[in-house]
Amino acid sequence: MANQTMEWANGFLDYVNASPTPFHAVRSSKERLEKVGFVGIRERDNWTKELKRGGKYYLTRNGSTIIAFAIGKKWEAGNGMALLGAHTDSPALRVKPKSRKFGESGSFLQVGVETYGGGLWHTWFDRDLGLAGRLIVKESDGTFVSKLVHIDRPILRIPTLAIHLDRQETFAFNKETQLFPIAGLAATALNKTPADNEKAKEHEKEEREGSGKDFAPLAAITERHHPAIVTKLAEAAGVSAENIMDFEILLFDTQKACLGGINDEFIFSARLDNLMMSYCATEGIIESLKAPDALDDETGIRLISLFDHEEIGSLTAQGANSNLLPAVVRRLSTLFGNADTSATAYEETLIKSMLWSCDQAHSVHPNYGAKYESDHRPAMNAGPVIKINANARYATNSPGIVLTQEVARGANVPLQLFVVRNDSSCGSTIGPMLSAALGTRTIDMGNAQLSMHSIRETGGSHDVEHAINLFSHYFSRYSELEDKILVH
Ligand SMILES: [Zn+2]
Repeated sequence: MANQTMEWANGFLDYVNASPTPFHAVRSSKERLEKVGFVGIRERDNWTKELKRGGKYYLTRNGSTIIAFAIGKKWEAGNGMALLGAHTDSPALRVKPKSRKFGESGSFLQVGVETYGGGLWHTWFDRDLGLAGRLIVKESDGTFVSKLVHIDRPILRIPTLAIHLDRQETFAFNKETQLFPIAGLAATALNKTPADNEKAKEHEKEEREGSGKDFAPLAAITERHHPAIVTKLAEAAGVSAENIMDFEILLFDTQKACLGGINDEFIFSARLDNLMMSYCATEGIIESLKAPDALDDETGIRLISLFDHEEIGSLTAQGANSNLLPAVVRRLSTLFGNADTSATAYEETLIKSMLWSCDQAHSVHPNYGAKYESDHRPAMNAGPVIKINANARYATNSPGIVLTQEVARGANVPLQLFVVRNDSSCGSTIGPMLSAALGTRTIDMGNAQLSMHSIRETGGSHDVEHAINLFSHYFSRYSELEDKILVH
């Protein structure tokens, strides 16, 4: 593998290994953006004085969605934007609001979990699972802050049943009662952690008699969850357990993502869908800004938007089907305008802009070849896949394909086309909803991978570089190509 190809593939491994949850993915992107001069701004502030031509900025919503953009030095209100969207979330198991459970007459410590998104849940059995997410912590001055936490140790496990005890041909299981992690043995917990034991006894006593402390509308976090787990979370975040007011914690596979295959042609990893596109979007916009004069002749704005909640339909405050992207584009569209130019700047910007909706695609599977349409069989390491669907499950249309092809030609990046069989179900993504909300030209695309929504997916290691090159060229060349393909 060429050095640069390898570097990008390894860069992705670092990104995905540091990003077990959407909160961490946002942080991973933020760190890379800050390093090259992107400055954090807030939705709640007035941007008029803050933003400058030639400036680079980012903002987050809920800590799990991030938008980053660079303003061309020749930007005028109403100009077009090169937009690129992806998503930060993946199917996962999440700790329930009250998770402190026991199995087998109290001898197993178990943790109640909820399914998030459409995971291939059978792949979560017999994996070494860690915990990560965000804590809301009470500070000494009475304010509450959010702190990320990442316990990179296998403290949970969902064991399968031995084949000797269960001869079922196909693996079927109940998602409430059998997809249910164990976290330890009560006997060990009692013997080895006397402090926890004391605390637990104290909590039980308090529950019976009342603590005599202030009224508490909800039980303490150490009562709703195993105290030992709360203690581990507190230690990992460097806070004290009593100050954790609430948390959003996901389970993840502690096995690190890695290169694989005889010639390192694969990436074996969790969350390829869609941290692969989140990573390439981040590095793509950064690459496009590398030259010191990158924004000198730029008339537009280059923007990436990495959304949470795609896997559950996007209809949330930080999802793609929210007001977030329209609101940001509207605020930017009127920048440096006057009363006259600003009046219809938003509508002018939308129609001059384009959105690349980037989400992973399906590589052909050698053992299930019949599931794929005969002439549309995307391969790994053969470049990004443009997704097309006559029923608009994908937003791609001809002007979009032609423009993307022009960008790819300049970048020397191969492209592929994908359509599902008429007798098959089809996925969807953020492209259709955003194109409807914005009215901009939109294309759906992504790198080809196997086993989408498994806890350990397979992708192509060369495709990281393909996507970054393509995205970087898109950002650099969009303003120049924009008015060459007009369909009124
Ligand atoms: Zn996806």
